[in-house]
Amino acid sequence: MAIVVAKFGGTSVGTGKRIRKAAQSVVNEYMQGNKVVVVVSAINKTTDESIKLVNESIGNNVTEKQLAGILAMGEMQSVRIMSATIESLGVKSEYIDPFNSKWPVITDSNYLNAKIDRNETQRAVNEHITKLIDQGIIPVICGFLGRDMEGSVTTLGRGGSDVSAFLIGHCIGADEVIIVTDVKGVMSTDPRKLNTARKLDKITVEEMIDLANYGAQVLHPNALRFKDPNIKAKIISYEYGDLRVQGTDIVGPSYVEDDVITITKIEDKLSVLAVVGEDLMSKQGIIAEITQKVNEKGLSIYGISTGESSITLFFKEKDAQKAHEVLHDLVIKGDRLSSISLGQKIAMISLVSHDFIDTPGIIASITKPLHDNDINIVELSSSQTAVVVFVDWNDGDKAYKLIKETLQ
Ligand code: ASP
Ligand code: MG
Repeated sequence: MAIVVAKFGGTSVGTGKRIRKAAQSVVNEYMQGNKVVVVVSAINKTTDESIKLVNESIGNNVTEKQLAGILAMGEMQSVRIMSATIESLGVKSEYIDPFNSKWPVITDSNYLNAKIDRNETQRAVNEHITKLIDQGIIPVICGFLGRDMEGSVTTLGRGGSDVSAFLIGHCIGADEVIIVTDVKGVMSTDPRKLNTARKLDKITVEEMIDLANYGAQVLHPNALRFKDPNIKAKIISYEYGDLRVQGTDIVGPSYVEDDVITITKIEDKLSVLAVVGEDLMSKQGIIAEITQKVNEKGLSIYGISTGESSITLFFKEKDAQKAHEVLHDLVIKGDRLSSISLGQKIAMISLVSHDFIDTPGIIASITKPLHDNDINIVELSSSQTAVVVFVDWNDGDKAYKLIKETLQ
């Protein structure tokens, strides 16, 4: 018997028919012998419409507390309809909103972007939600909403129902979290921008976070902070009315602790190679030529960056000689590159954390201690969840220590 959290997004409950289909899929899952917890968003664009109404009626004079209370109505409506629909199909259900004594999601009083109190939430889930599913009742919980210590309604930020689903999944020890939405899964790119986009069968948490932050709005990136590695998760389309349909599985993460930055310095020395030429940005296919040559020799590139007149590449020291040779061949055979230099020995320090997404000044806090200690940064690259710093090998240990002391 599995515990399943099913989250229905606004579109998936956008009409009466869809609500019924969603409720039926929940009941089918329950009939298979599973325990199901339902999390629902506001119907369709209810939240947007409420914001528009407030803008027109009150404008900037609305307080955050008032606005949170108004936005909450969307989810308070949808849980009532969903729960009643499930009951109409013959299974016991209870809706739970922040005014209910069984409400589980406890937060601080930052009304529109509330921070979750994990301990209180865990306690409330154990006390109330677990009890309900053990009694064979299907709880239908408002997504997006929280309650602070004073009993006021808060919200988890736009799109926050995904966060609710993974949070509740984590606290209840779910076997699976299913996000039911208006796309068939995660696509290889935005299908509105490229018609060759295809659905991915699988994606890792780390990839998903990077993707979400570059504009793919399938899932709230913060939701995955609560994804335990051993909880299955997938994104599926509402159209099938079936929670067992295949969509995109989300696997991982490979690291678990929240609020933890993993900082590592790779053991090996790296070497830096700079390929130089004039006006490289406008010369097509240069990077492809370089990486192809290197690839033919089976060498891994640890970092690459491009500038107007040079392309810098990092290799393990033991590979650098070979890379130097093949790339030098490339330089002298064509007329697009002028020269190549093999530079100093480099240390590579990499930092990985979920928290990079929403921490302003993270780069500054990495570079400041290095600057204060006269350590030169040879190269720095960053993505949504990772920052990689390259420094001179002789500075490596010190830089690693300084960064660790500053950030951990
Ligand atoms: N209804 C909220 C919103 O539109 C939360 C959600 O749908 O996830 O932002
Ligand atoms: Mg959403």
